[in-house]
Amino acid sequence: MATVLRCKDVGFDCDGVIRAETEEEALQQAAQHAKEAHGLDEVTDEIIAQVQAAMRDA
Ligand SMILES: [Zn+2]
Repeated sequence: MATVLRCKDVGFDCDGVIRAETEEEALQQAAQHAKEAHGLDEVTDEIIAQVQAAMRDA
């Protein structure tokens, strides 16, 4: 199932949208986006939980 993730749904003031074919891929892209766009070096379990909660079926 394809997944879409809106960065602002995770709590960032950001229009970034991540689309991926799997939840795992979306998590990887989210981690990379958080690092590049938001300077977040460490993706904690808490952030992963927030990302998973914000994922929607595309
Ligand atoms: Zn963002």
